[in-house]
Amino acid sequence: MTDPNGRKHRTATRVVEAGRRRQWTSVPDLAGGVVNPPVWRASTHLYENCAALKEAAATSNEDGRFFYGRRGAPTQWALADALTGLEEGAFGTMLYPSGVAAITGAYLAVCRPGERLLIADNSYDPSRSIGTGLMASYGVKAEFFDPLDVEGFRRLCAQDGKIGAVLLEAPGSLTMEVCDVPALAATAKEAGAWVLIDNTWAGPTGFSALAHGCDGVITALTKHVGGHSDLMMGSVSGTERLYHRLRRTAQQLGHVVSPDDAALALRGLRTLDLRLRQESASALAVARWLRGRPEVAAVLCPMLEGAPGHDLWKRDFTGGCGLFTFVLKGRDAAARARLIDALRLFGIGYSWGGFESLALPIDPGSCRSVRDWPPRGGWGGPDGGGLDGSDRFAVRLSIGLEDPADLIADLDHGFAAMENGG
Ligand SMILES: *Cc1c(COP(=O)(O)O)cnc(C)c1O
Repeated sequence: MTDPNGRKHRTATRVVEAGRRRQWTSVPDLAGGVVNPPVWRASTHLYENCAALKEAAATSNEDGRFFYGRRGAPTQWALADALTGLEEGAFGTMLYPSGVAAITGAYLAVCRPGERLLIADNSYDPSRSIGTGLMASYGVKAEFFDPLDVEGFRRLCAQDGKIGAVLLEAPGSLTMEVCDVPALAATAKEAGAWVLIDNTWAGPTGFSALAHGCDGVITALTKHVGGHSDLMMGSVSGTERLYHRLRRTAQQLGHVVSPDDAALALRGLRTLDLRLRQESASALAVARWLRGRPEVAAVLCPMLEGAPGHDLWKRDFTGGCGLFTFVLKGRDAAARARLIDALRLFGIGYSWGGFESLALPIDPGSCRSVRDWPPRGGWGGPDGGGLDGSDRFAVRLSIGLEDPADLIADLDHGFAAMENGG
């Protein structure tokens, strides 16, 4: 993946090249080949003879070898290999049937009974509830911390009890805080913990999590890698030490993804960089427009100059995406519903990262235990929001590939419906 001068290929090029090994796109007896790995639908893998079967059993713990369907076949291997190739510093990638399965798979790979699991307070809600639910039932103690308080995190790490893992998410996928990943990761590592990060928002092209001190990167491929709202999948890419643990645990849990979904994810991956750049530009246009609206108390979009988290985003990230949140000024839940219901281009639904735009009412207060929602001191931050701390009704937008001018016109229409309907 270098050009004739030895320079590492740029992101857009690497996204096109990743995982396209010749042995997965050609047949030994035939000249030529195809562009994409075929869909290898397989449960049984066949052996030449009993000796080959015996040899495979002895060497079965190797990647990229036929063994049995649960280990995948070239379609899944090509996807995992592509994700590893895009993740700077990764040794390998495990695929999971959903993003949530990836989170659970990562927790179970590293946390042992009696250990502490420190979860950033702005994490995806299931990341929190798996910690206090499933992991607690295995004797792991989940604790939450304010990801913006590096000193507080240092004090928490210094408390008694071995820390199994720390989970970060930057930005938090509801409230969009960007934490200082290198500082938190260094502190966690000093305490002997594995550092995991849910990097679904920026993805491997927008944030190099391992290069910023993490051991494992969780991605909900359901979102941007799939990119077309038609598949569920997750992945964890990690350092060599972590990868072996992930693999052992995933195999014992029986995690495997379908080759059809893997082929769809590979197709999505080829346009990932292009889509993210377009979505980010459109999201910025919409965010700037929202910031000028009298109905809006705050725009929580780290890519937006002056918005919360922008400085750290600019320091550490090379890209963003179309997902951000805005808070209504002096309005209630009914007004918010009138706004969202009136939108024609934005679907109402969970998930994000598809080619189509979505709007979702969010009330993050119910999934926070350390940070207040709305934040203490209100929205008086540098994003130009009002000072009224009572504004709490938020809308999360996933900006897709529509023309941003049409999206803005739709939101304008939504605001009119919000004001007229009450
Ligand atoms: C959606 C999401 C997940 C989970 O992915 P699924 O494939 O829906 O299970 C994990 N993390 C974040 C940040 C998400 O938005």
